[in-house]
Amino acid sequence: MFYQELFLVFILGLVFGSFLNVLIYRLPEGKSLLKPSSHCPKCETPLKWYHNIPLISFIFLRGRCAYCGEKISLQYPLVELITALLLVSIFVKFKPLYGFIPFAFFSIFAMILISVFFIDLKHKEIPDLLSFSLIFFGWIFSLTGKNPLGITFKESLLSTFSGIGLLFFINEVYYLITRRDGIGMGDFKLMGGLGAYLGYKSFYNLLFFASLIGVITFFIFQIYQKIFKGKKDSFTENILKKEIPFGPLLSISALIYLFNPKSLL
Ligand SMILES: [Zn+2]
Repeated sequence: MFYQELFLVFILGLVFGSFLNVLIYRLPEGKSLLKPSSHCPKCETPLKWYHNIPLISFIFLRGRCAYCGEKISLQYPLVELITALLLVSIFVKFKPLYGFIPFAFFSIFAMILISVFFIDLKHKEIPDLLSFSLIFFGWIFSLTGKNPLGITFKESLLSTFSGIGLLFFINEVYYLITRRDGIGMGDFKLMGGLGAYLGYKSFYNLLFFASLIGVITFFIFQIYQKIFKGKKDSFTENILKKEIPFGPLLSISALIYLFNPKSLL
């Protein structure tokens, strides 16, 4: 029975992941999420339903558009797979012990963070819709009294504003030293959303993990560049030249914290 449920959650994750792809692609460009229906970004031919089955279609079409043969970004199946695997993990971790409500709210949490990860990585911005949704659902979650981290509504509210304030403060200090902004406005609001869900006690861990992953990523790309000297692509160029955006780092550390909240305390 449990394995049947897991399978259903996996399929559900693929379907939601497919919707996140639309969100990730259209939200930063201000396009409607519902219209037009899915189409090839190159030749703009509308896709048939069987071109649009999560994961399966990508494999069947060997990663190319059925009409013009244009390569389809690996990001599409990747987002679908990550969403499905995360939802299954959240189900296993929270459903048997805490019931359906934490599973539902943490699934929303994870899906918003997946969107933040990919949008911020590419566009260096976090849409307000995502941060405000995170804050909103975090507050509602605390009101149900079912947050396994024991976050009350009062704590959720307080943590939202201290999260925003904390990053604002760090940015001010950074500005005083370096005379440039290190963290964007989007990151303040994202931290508010993480506070709403995880409480202010998570802040130390979130910032620690985010910085650690940032440093490791930076060094990996340094080594990567040394090995593939001359072979320059825009992705690594971007990361080496400018700062690594903070939103993706915060998103990863928030998910690590969700699965292991006592990791460093
Ligand atoms: Zn095409």
